[in-house]
Amino acid sequence: MKKKTTNGKETKIIKLEELSWKQIDELDREKSIFFLPLSPLEEHGPHLPVGTDLFTSQDAAVEAIKILNKKNPSLSYILLPSIPVGYCKFAVDFPGSISVSGKVVRDIVFSVGSSLAKHGFKHLIICTYHMAIGHLKGIYTGMKKTMNKYDIRVCEPWGPYFYSNEVEKREPKLDFDTSKELHAGFRETSLMKYQYPYLVDESYKKLQSIYRDLCSPRVLGKTFKQLGLEDGYVGSPARADADYGRWFFNETVNVYVKSALDLYNGKELPDLPKNIKLTMRALFWQ
Ligand SMILES: [Zn+2]
Repeated sequence: MKKKTTNGKETKIIKLEELSWKQIDELDREKSIFFLPLSPLEEHGPHLPVGTDLFTSQDAAVEAIKILNKKNPSLSYILLPSIPVGYCKFAVDFPGSISVSGKVVRDIVFSVGSSLAKHGFKHLIICTYHMAIGHLKGIYTGMKKTMNKYDIRVCEPWGPYFYSNEVEKREPKLDFDTSKELHAGFRETSLMKYQYPYLVDESYKKLQSIYRDLCSPRVLGKTFKQLGLEDGYVGSPARADADYGRWFFNETVNVYVKSALDLYNGKELPDLPKNIKLTMRALFWQ
């Protein structure tokens, strides 16, 4: 299928929901890469929208597709509609957080992946910004099930990057420890100040820094409020900086671009580090 151009310069993003089955049937099976943004609606402190993770995964996928269209125009990049679903049980004592079981996440990934694979498509990228292990367990189990059953390659690029501490290694030098910025803190507030400044409540400037180790076994299964996180954030939102947000956003875009090309070129897919996989395996479906 020919890519339509809007103004001659920018290539139009192909959205699956805008195509007819006829047009989809005309796509080259070997040369089409699908992007599925999948993140829950989840409270992000008193200052950020519940769609923070969903917006970021969707917008980064759109930017990645724009770059890929220029970098390798012989391939087709198709954006699927964003699915506002994920596992975020620890955040449900705040209104607006919607959590589903990891099994639901698994079934969504398998259903989307197998529906594409049954028609011969070969490449799917799951774009998520939500790094909860229970959510990733759903995604990775769904990916594995799909790839065991069908001739399709599916990958989730951000988890392996995030959990191998690549952000800390590559980010601009800062005078504080960003590895403690776990939820709606410096990083995500910076992101939203860059992407959606009008959705960031000015109160972020006055929020105290709050730190918790959310990976420790003692806190597993507890909700944010049970951990004394009354406002629903972990980190230092007041430090937010739109320039850092731009860097962080572009970093995500670059990770998506690289993964898409690696996926297409048959290279080894990024995987989660061992310790995360072990935690994931030990976790019961909730
Ligand atoms: Zn988030």
